[in-house]
Order: sequence, then C-alpha cells, then structure tokens
Amino acid sequence: MYAFVTHTSNPIKGLCPHKCDYCYMLAIFRHYHHDETLRLDEYELKVNYGKNKYIFIGSSTDIFAKAVPTEWILQVYDKCLQHPDNKYLFQSKNPGRFLEPQLINHPN
Ligand code: SF4
Repeated sequence: MYAFVTHTSNPIKGLCPHKCDYCYMLAIFRHYHHDETLRLDEYELKVNYGKNKYIFIGSSTDIFAKAVPTEWILQVYDKCLQHPDNKYLFQSKNPGRFLEPQLINHPN
C-alpha cells in the first residue's frame, strides 16, 4: 500500500471492528473462516522487529478501533519502543484516539 513500508505487523488479531465494505480482509475472513475474535497476539509481541525497517503496525486490523482496549495499544507501543531503530506507521479510521490521555502521555 505504501512504497516506503518494508514490513507489516498485526499484534491485534481478529476482524477489524470497522468492517469497511471495501476491505479485502473482510473477504478473507469470511472465505477462510478465520477467527474473527478481536485479541492481542502475544506471539506477535515476541517477534524480533530488528532494525532499519519501516513497519506498518495494524495493516489488517485498526489497533485504534473503539473496541480495542487501551492496555493492548500500550503493549504495542512498548513493543515498538523495544526496537527504536525502526520507523513505525500507525494509521486509523478512529484518529481521535491518538489523543487519548494514556496514549499521548505514553513515553516515546
Ligand atoms: S479500517 Fe482498514 S483494516 Fe479495518 S475494515 Fe476498514 S479497510 Fe479494513
């Protein structure tokens, strides 16, 4: 989707709560009967993100959707901070949440 992005990571798994009609992920979930349950993927939090990458976080599930607990997002932020030699892309259909006090005051 973005030429500058080198990797993607989806620490929040399950069907994206926005369920946009045009989303290819919706079709994949329905076709392959994937688990639609929104959840934090502990395994993904243990992956070595390495360095010198540009990682799109939440490319298939909006981690800032209203249904995602703040604590999960904070764990994702912590994960990114463990690998400070990367750049990270966050985008959301719910951008007001970027300003949520616990998130905007997170040390970074
Ligand atoms: S916000 Fe993005 S990932 Fe979520 S349903 Fe819409 S297009 Fe798909």
